[in-house]
Amino acid sequence: MNIEQFYPLFLKSGKVTIDSRKIEKNDIFFAFSGENFNAATLAEKAIADGALAVIVEQEEFENKEKNIFYVHSTLDFLQNLAIHHRDMLKIPVIGLTGSNGKTTTKELIHAVLSEKYNVQYTYGNLNNHIGVPLTILSVRPEHEIAVIEMGANHQKEIELLCSISRPDYGYITNFGKAHLEGFGGFEGVIKGKSELYDYLKAAHKTILVNENDEIQIGKTENYKPVITFGKPDSDYYFEAFSEDHFVGISYQNIQILSKLTGNYNFTNLCAAAGFGLHFGIDVNQIRRALERYTPTNMRSQVVKKEGRTLVLDTYNANPSSMTASLNNFITFEGTKTIIIGDMLELGAESEAEHRNILKLAQDLGFDMIITVGKNFKNINPSATAFESTADLTEYLKQNTIQSENILLKASRGISLEKAIDFI
Ligand code: ATP
Ligand code: MG
Repeated sequence: MNIEQFYPLFLKSGKVTIDSRKIEKNDIFFAFSGENFNAATLAEKAIADGALAVIVEQEEFENKEKNIFYVHSTLDFLQNLAIHHRDMLKIPVIGLTGSNGKTTTKELIHAVLSEKYNVQYTYGNLNNHIGVPLTILSVRPEHEIAVIEMGANHQKEIELLCSISRPDYGYITNFGKAHLEGFGGFEGVIKGKSELYDYLKAAHKTILVNENDEIQIGKTENYKPVITFGKPDSDYYFEAFSEDHFVGISYQNIQILSKLTGNYNFTNLCAAAGFGLHFGIDVNQIRRALERYTPTNMRSQVVKKEGRTLVLDTYNANPSSMTASLNNFITFEGTKTIIIGDMLELGAESEAEHRNILKLAQDLGFDMIITVGKNFKNINPSATAFESTADLTEYLKQNTIQSENILLKASRGISLEKAIDFI
């Protein structure tokens, strides 16, 4: 099966899915080879469930009468179909990458642009070599702008994702210490994330630049077109303020108070407002969108529980976001306990980075420090160093944390959110 032949069928389809459990009428199902599944059964089942077509990698399962088509590689076919579809799209595409804050920024941009446009955007965190093509394929004629999150943990990944999504606008949320292992240290992170700039420059597309970020300034020196924010003489200048630990931005004397906590969210809000202003959205509409947006996804989420304030940030953690989080949390009024879990995927720098964070936590002077995970336990002799979330949970069943404020932050793999009900 080739792309041009298949494309009309795609245009007739409802959506493209790789999940056999979620097939709806008129979907196109890509049967990725898993460990224990029978592609033949899945393909037949998909058609029985109403799928319009199925793509399989096994030649013997092809059944053109039933619209079950064989391709050499489902992944290549998915990516190439997305590339072909992208060629047909005549709407602005915004591409985002960075070490931290991609999803938050994407959600905020979506909220702002939706004030005026029909926006398609990455669902959840579908930001990799499969998620990006799926997102591109979800952009349909009714959409007017697309916002695509691109994640990476090694070199050349953003390059690939750019070749599929071909953004007209791009923004790097930050360069941080995340995925150090795969990127080969911090310099490697800068190089890998900057593949977005490389793409935009070669294609003469627009870069959104935070002029408070030295790396962004350096990487975009003398380049045009750019949209800038961060300094009084930038294209758009926002000032930071906060109220009750929520982050706000003010623009031309209009104050916008978000429901996000953590100073790092200031730049995320600026980026969203910057894109909004660029796309002609009135500042009062931007305000409405940003004030309304409520995080619900364990990313800097603030919840009140029995008179205490819990800051839930268990979605991910790395040295940059952990540092930002601790520095933010120390400003909370009242007694404070932190429950911090291991930061995964740090490679050779893991032990040193965990030591740095533990020392920072001790220097900041929290009332109680609880750590979860083997990396912290190896360097933390304290009685409140637990090897796993399960061990922490056992402790919490016997002990109550007395603090008025409690922060939970860890890498996803630690599943720290499972402890929340026991606090
Ligand atoms: P992932 O790699 O999992 O896709 P992401 O880049 O999409 O992550 P978010 O999910 O938006 O990032 O945020 C994850 C965490 O990163 C937040 O909860 C917060 O602790 C931190 N964070 C968010 N924005 C920033 C930022 N601009 N700079 C530094 N840290 C940030
Ligand atoms: Mg994300």
